[in-house]
Amino acid sequence: MRVCVIGTGYVGLVTGVCLAHIGHDVICVDNNEAKVKVMQSGTSPIYEPGLSEIMQSAMSKGNLEFTTNVSTAIANSQILFIAVGTPALPTGESDTRYVEAVARSIGFAINGEYKVIVNKSTVPIGSGDWVRQIINSEIEQRNLDTTPQFDVVSNPEFLREGSAIYDTFNPDRIVLGGNSSEALSLMKELYQPIVERAIPANDAIGKLSAETVPVVTTDLNSAETIKYAANSFLATKISFINELANICGRVGADVVQVAQGIGLDSRIGNKFLQAGIGWGGSCFPKDVSALIHTADDYGYDAQLLKATVRVNTTQRLLAVEKLQQVLKILKGKTVGLLGLTFKPDTDDLRDAPAINLIEELNRLGAKVKAYDPLIQSPEHHSILSTVDLETTPDGLVNGCDALVLVTNWQEFANWDYVQLAKQMNTPIMIDGRNYLDANVLAAAGFYYIGIGRPTAG
Ligand code: NAD
Repeated sequence: MRVCVIGTGYVGLVTGVCLAHIGHDVICVDNNEAKVKVMQSGTSPIYEPGLSEIMQSAMSKGNLEFTTNVSTAIANSQILFIAVGTPALPTGESDTRYVEAVARSIGFAINGEYKVIVNKSTVPIGSGDWVRQIINSEIEQRNLDTTPQFDVVSNPEFLREGSAIYDTFNPDRIVLGGNSSEALSLMKELYQPIVERAIPANDAIGKLSAETVPVVTTDLNSAETIKYAANSFLATKISFINELANICGRVGADVVQVAQGIGLDSRIGNKFLQAGIGWGGSCFPKDVSALIHTADDYGYDAQLLKATVRVNTTQRLLAVEKLQQVLKILKGKTVGLLGLTFKPDTDDLRDAPAINLIEELNRLGAKVKAYDPLIQSPEHHSILSTVDLETTPDGLVNGCDALVLVTNWQEFANWDYVQLAKQMNTPIMIDGRNYLDANVLAAAGFYYIGIGRPTAG
């Protein structure tokens, strides 16, 4: 099938590359010329394991292209994905201006061939109808002899940054919302190889489950709500275990053991039960806020979701509280951060807890050093101009009064903590993800402080 993906960020690029890999003819569009040039040269502008390999292979087979020319891409495609960003406005609601701009481009360029417009972006509930209206109003202004025919489908995305390729080929479900049987059946045809697991083998993809993928078909509003509900539930689950960690810390229980004990209950499940210094990233914060805002619009006070956010806001600064407990005065002290991104295997710093942590340490007069395998230059975020970015473990710990593990990058489990302890003023480790072995750290000479678990050393 001929597919166009508009917006080539973490979602759009991965979607386009994966659809090309299963044999569709894909044209990816972005209005960022520099980004398009990079992609045209076969390089991915984002870090995502396995992405470059399948991107280059699809390009060499001739079924993946990149362009800034949105009109031609729209006219030549049967299925048009909208995959632009929907960041949060200061009010918490979703900023839909990029979706609106794309909908206008579609109305402007759509031709006689029937097309399916797919909302892949996470959009406020009701946006499917809104996109249809925008496209129709653009079409009306063109005074065409025959009105182009199209339908809008909501197809929310559930991939996780860091395992986006695997997740796209191995989804827990595919959600398709819409009221046109023609559009829904074209979407099912598009995804058939993924649903049936008939995917060309590639080392980058890894081993896939053998079972067919469930396809959930709903109305537009329900599909849009599913996306917000899923992220809000996951964020709430993390805030729940973080709240429990704070109780464990006070009563002398170990939240890691508690999480294991409750996670084995199949009604609860063991995923998203790792206590730490809070959730972040480009999705959870903005999606929970957007759902709270939608509820407010309808006069409903989403108390549980508001509490989920409140617990997270406090949790993000828990490492500072723990640093103050051991170091007392932070002014003039040097704190080294292990990791900056909101989770491992991504270079995405959007709304990462590290940003709040750095702001607070700056405010209290501490000097901040940081090491992150993928963030090694300050252009990733303005806050990094206040941080000494280090490129080696030795460079990070040298002269530090304490360390805070912010991101559970795998390499942190393999560092030589015996050697590192010797280079610090005071070997203190706040393990913000309960990721390191407390006994190993204590044996290496560290005073180890986890989240919601007994200290060691
Ligand atoms: P992103 O910011 O990484 O990428 C958006 C891209 O759209 C950018 O490359 C930008 O240049 C491009 N763009 C903006 N306006 C455009 C226009 N008019 N024409 C062409 N290109 C345009 O965003 P993302 O993280 O990929 O997220 C996209 C959507 O998917 C959001 O709604 C997000 O909530 C949702 N989502 C994201 C994730 C994730 O893990 N990042 C997961 C699930 C869903």
